[in-house]
Amino acid sequence: MTIECALSAPADRAGAILTIDLGAVVENWRRLSARLSPAPCAAVVKADGYGLGAAAVGRALHEAGCTRFFVAQLDEALALRAALPEPQIFCLGGLPARTEATFVHHRITPVLNHLGEVDAWAAVCRERGTALPAAIHIDTGMNRLGLSPAEVDELSAGPTRLAGIGLDLWMSHLACADEADSPVSGEQLARMTAAVARLPKAPVSFANSSGIFLGSPYHFDLGRPGVALYGVNPTPGKPNPMVPTIRLDARVLQVRSVDLSMTVGYGAAHRMTRAGRIATLGVGYADGYFRSLGARGHVFVDGVPAPVVGRISMDLITVDVSGFADGVVVPGKLVELIGPNRPVDTVAEEAGTIGYEILTSLGRRYHRDYIGGDAGKKAV
Ligand SMILES: *Cc1c(COP(=O)(O)O)cnc(C)c1O
Repeated sequence: MTIECALSAPADRAGAILTIDLGAVVENWRRLSARLSPAPCAAVVKADGYGLGAAAVGRALHEAGCTRFFVAQLDEALALRAALPEPQIFCLGGLPARTEATFVHHRITPVLNHLGEVDAWAAVCRERGTALPAAIHIDTGMNRLGLSPAEVDELSAGPTRLAGIGLDLWMSHLACADEADSPVSGEQLARMTAAVARLPKAPVSFANSSGIFLGSPYHFDLGRPGVALYGVNPTPGKPNPMVPTIRLDARVLQVRSVDLSMTVGYGAAHRMTRAGRIATLGVGYADGYFRSLGARGHVFVDGVPAPVVGRISMDLITVDVSGFADGVVVPGKLVELIGPNRPVDTVAEEAGTIGYEILTSLGRRYHRDYIGGDAGKKAV
């Protein structure tokens, strides 16, 4: 007699399940679009869509009407192009040497960050006899990328340098958009307004997520939100105008009784002050569950908080579940790490970081469940 065993489903094997609501991402894009209107709203999907999956997010947003996407690196642009044959894809990282033909072949729009790149793209356009699209980044105070004030002077004195380029966009980036009262934003706005007034006319893009909430003077001709699409609060200190897009549930691997004075985990960093029960969950710092959450984080069991105790291990965390009745926390049960009781922003605060870093650290080992936005046929 043979015993038939069904093979396991991926969701049964993973230590945690990440649910990504593409419908919520689309809803956030619509909310941002409404705020920006009449200016259109692009989508920043760098770092694999802030950890949610650039292809899946890109397809859902494209279907909803988004026609412009921004990534940081050329490889990200190529991966997105494979998923989205049509829309315009801007690459924020500039035009590295020997990549020009790749930009042209895959119809990626470079964001030119200094005059050397402007000259290089103009040469490509001349060579090909086509006004190939480009954006030009003007630095207004970040001092990372973009034309310096001296380069803006040089370009406004000699705009023929742009000849041949299909100039689609002037852009700049805000340093303090998430601080509603910062004087820096107004200074950058004044610099940008003065710069584009001296340069050949083209649409202007200025606002990231938080910048959109600084008001219409910041909107210009195209919004460029990233993090707000994914549900992080673009207006810190005020109620979150976005909807949450992810939830993360970890599996209980084991529950054990631990005696008074026994210690839990590496470094014996947690000592039981009374006899109790410890649940071990299948996530760790290798999954982006920050080590700084050790002895600080909370998980939720059926909506009730339970403290993370001891250090975070590579693959495991330990939670004190002494307060729960017998049979509530059992092996196989899923508990909430991120979700309605624990928004990304709260987890970030507990971890001593920002929501951006929580999202972009979301682990590769999680089983990913895409829902909403026709996820079934679009997830990758
Ligand atoms: C990342 C990035 C954005 C998006 O910023 P959010 O704060 O996530 O909205 C926009 N523009 C540039 C240049 C960026 O690097």
